[in-house]
Amino acid sequence: MAVDEIELAEQNRIARQVLQQNIPWNAEVWQGLLDRYYGTGLPHASLLLGNEGTGKRPLAYQLAKLLLCKSADKKTSKINACCDQCRSCQLMDAGSHPDYFVCDQEAKGKQIKVDTVRQLNDFLSKTPQISACQVVQIYPVEAMNLNASNALLKTLEEPSGETYLLLMAERLGSVLPTIRSRTQRINFHPPVAEQALVWLTEQMPNTSQEDLAQALRQCGGGPLKAQSWLRDGLLSQDATYITLMQGWLGGSQQLQDTSKGLAKYDLLDTINWWTGLSLDIMKLAMGAEIQQLSHPQQAEWLQQLAATVSRLKLLTLQHKLQEVAGRLAAGQGNYNASLLIESMLLDWQQSFSS
Ligand SMILES: [Zn+2]
Repeated sequence: MAVDEIELAEQNRIARQVLQQNIPWNAEVWQGLLDRYYGTGLPHASLLLGNEGTGKRPLAYQLAKLLLCKSADKKTSKINACCDQCRSCQLMDAGSHPDYFVCDQEAKGKQIKVDTVRQLNDFLSKTPQISACQVVQIYPVEAMNLNASNALLKTLEEPSGETYLLLMAERLGSVLPTIRSRTQRINFHPPVAEQALVWLTEQMPNTSQEDLAQALRQCGGGPLKAQSWLRDGLLSQDATYITLMQGWLGGSQQLQDTSKGLAKYDLLDTINWWTGLSLDIMKLAMGAEIQQLSHPQQAEWLQQLAATVSRLKLLTLQHKLQEVAGRLAAGQGNYNASLLIESMLLDWQQSFSS
């Protein structure tokens, strides 16, 4: 195999592992779904809502696998997980189940287009091939453009046969009201900090507790997000961000060098990192404790910044960051990254009076 293929195979293997993980903090959500499935039945369309890294996708995958599972006594013995033996379960493991359709982004930051939703509609217009039902996943709902969302509405309204649609989103505010009103919501929450750290330690026993805790802080407490954050090497990226911003705001580094250093990274990563930085400074300016920061180890530097910050200017910058992040997450950010970074670096500089 070529290096690319090996890499892709490895990525697929990790992705599959992630989906098959047992997520202890979602046990209650899972049980609630089972009760409904074996009771009054699951709704035609569900909206799985929660922050990134709280385990929506593994749960949706495992639910799909159970719904499709052909175990003969599934309903009579109310099994709480798929059988893992039948042809349906095997096809799910192989990633080639004919009654399972996943609608997602081609790449991070890309939109889900109307063509993909049309394929989904075509898929649902057929009858199930081997299982008793069809299951569709859409992730993330925020990435559907308006045309794609409109193409989905009819399908959400008029279920054709035995079908289950599992939609996943991070922010309710960015889901169209027409989609919200046609789906039943299932809320996901991150575990408490100690449970998150215990789980992450089990997954990554060779990483220090300090690094694991830092990853969790950086990822809003979402353990799965923290796991991929560490796997993607974002811990060292975090350190580079700090060095670059210390240099720029401390006056020891030029605009162009700073901008060049930042432009090496994914723009949305940078915007999200800046948002975290601005929140830390704002928190300190308002008297928060060091433990509440996402970068407690940088408290001294952050306190210096908080002492000279113009809150109004920082708030304005925060709004800009939010707007850009929203557009990028929805695949609509057609930005010139270097220009945007330079203009925002100047905004950063102007937020401090000395
Ligand atoms: Zn099975």
